[in-house]
Amino acid sequence: MLLEQERAEVVRICQEMQRQGLVVGTAGNVSVRVDDRVVISPSGMEYADLEPGDVGVHDLTGEPVDARFKPSSELPLHLAVYAATDAGAIVHNHAPASTALGLLVDEIPATHYYSAMFGGLIRVAPYATFGTAELADNVARALDGRLGALMANHGAITVGPTLSKAFSLLPYLEYVCEVQLRAMAASPATMRVLSPEQMREASAGLSGYGQSK
Ligand SMILES: [Zn+2]
Repeated sequence: MLLEQERAEVVRICQEMQRQGLVVGTAGNVSVRVDDRVVISPSGMEYADLEPGDVGVHDLTGEPVDARFKPSSELPLHLAVYAATDAGAIVHNHAPASTALGLLVDEIPATHYYSAMFGGLIRVAPYATFGTAELADNVARALDGRLGALMANHGAITVGPTLSKAFSLLPYLEYVCEVQLRAMAASPATMRVLSPEQMREASAGLSGYGQSK
C-alpha cells in the first residue's frame, strides 16, 4: 500500500486524540506530508474503526492519488498550511479549553512559559465557515512563524516536522488554554504575564529540553 506507514500513523494519532479527550466523535483531522503527497484522515469516520487503507493520499492540489473515501472537509486548510509553511504534519482538534479561550482573546497572553514551545505568542485565527478557503487563509496566517494556533469559534491546530511532533504539542496547547481560562475566571485584572525577555529565555531552555532512550 502506498505510504502505508504514514497511513497507519494517521490512524494511531486520530485514535490517541480521541483517547485523550481532545476531540468529540469524528471531529478533528490529521495529516502528514511526504514530498508532494498529503496523507489525511477521511471525513466523518469513527476513529475506533479506522484502518490504514481508509486513510487517503492526495496531491498538493487536493486531487486524490489513492483514496477510497472522501478526505476530511478541512483538506483545503491542510493544503493551505503546507503551501504557506514548511510543516511536515498537521493536527487539528476541537478540545474544550482551546475552543473556549478562542472565544475570548485574539492572542494567548504570555502567562505560561509553555507558550514559548510554539515559537511566540499563540494567535487566534478569525472565524470562517469550516472547510472554506477563507478559513484556510486565516489559519495559515495565524500559524506564520508558529507551531500552533487557536481557531475562533472552532478549535485548535498544531504543526510540526513529523506527525508525532505536531501531536505532542496539542495537549500542551490545551493545558496552556485551560490555565489561562481558570486565571481569567478568578481575577483577569491582576494576571501576571511573562516579559518578552522571559519568554525568550524559556524558548532557549525548551529547545534543548527532553531526552530519549
Ligand atoms: Zn474542525
